[in-house]
Amino acid sequence: MTIQEMQLDRTSLTYAPANPAINHEALSQPTVFVDRDGVINQNRSNHVLSWQDFEFVAGSILALASLHRAGYQVIVVTNQAAIARKLFSIHELELIHQRMQEAIEEGGGKVKGIFYCIHLPTADCACRKPRPGLLFEAAEKFNIELTTSWLVGDHTTDMQAAVAAGCKPLLVLTGRGQTAYETWQQNQDSTGPGVYPPLTVKANLLEAVDFILAKERIMV
Ligand SMILES: [Zn+2]
Repeated sequence: MTIQEMQLDRTSLTYAPANPAINHEALSQPTVFVDRDGVINQNRSNHVLSWQDFEFVAGSILALASLHRAGYQVIVVTNQAAIARKLFSIHELELIHQRMQEAIEEGGGKVKGIFYCIHLPTADCACRKPRPGLLFEAAEKFNIELTTSWLVGDHTTDMQAAVAAGCKPLLVLTGRGQTAYETWQQNQDSTGPGVYPPLTVKANLLEAVDFILAKERIMV
C-alpha cells in the first residue's frame, strides 16, 4: 500500500467532531505534535536562549525525517515562559526556530508550524500547556483532526494538553520524561485530575515515531 492510499484511508475514517470550527470534509494530513525542549533538543536548566544552547536529542532529526517521508505533518508546540521572564526576545526565539527548521530540513524532515506560549505559568492563559490552546490554534490554522493526532512530549503537562485536546498522548523518557513517567505510574490507578491512561511510553522521539508508523500502518 502506498503512503497516499494510507492517508486516504486514514482521513476517510469518521470521528466525532472535536471542534466545530474544523472543516471535516477537507482534513489535512495526519499530524504529530511534538514538544520541543526535552524531545527535539536537550533541556537546559537555565533555558535554551540561543542557537548555541540548542543541542538536538540523538535521533530526533532522523525521527522527524521519517514522519515527513511517511506523509505526516509535524507541528511543534512549546511553552516558552522565558519570553515573559525577559530572558530573551520573541525575535531571538524565532531565530532559534529558523535554525532548527533549517537543520531539520537538511536532515530530510519538515516542520509545518511552530506554536509557542510566551506567558508565565501564573498568567492563566489559554495557550500554556497543560491547556490545549496551542493545539486548538494549530488545528484551526491547518485544519487538523485532533482525535487522530499524536502529541509526543516529555512532561506531564504535555500529556494533559494532549488529553484536553482529544489527541493521543505519547510520553518519551528523554528530557524530564523519566520523572513524568514515575508520576504517571503512581497515579494511574486513581481517577483524579492529571490522570491520562492509556499512555504510550517510548525511550525517545525516534522510538516514538517508529511506534506510530508501525501502529498506523497496521490500522489501515
Ligand atoms: Zn500562553
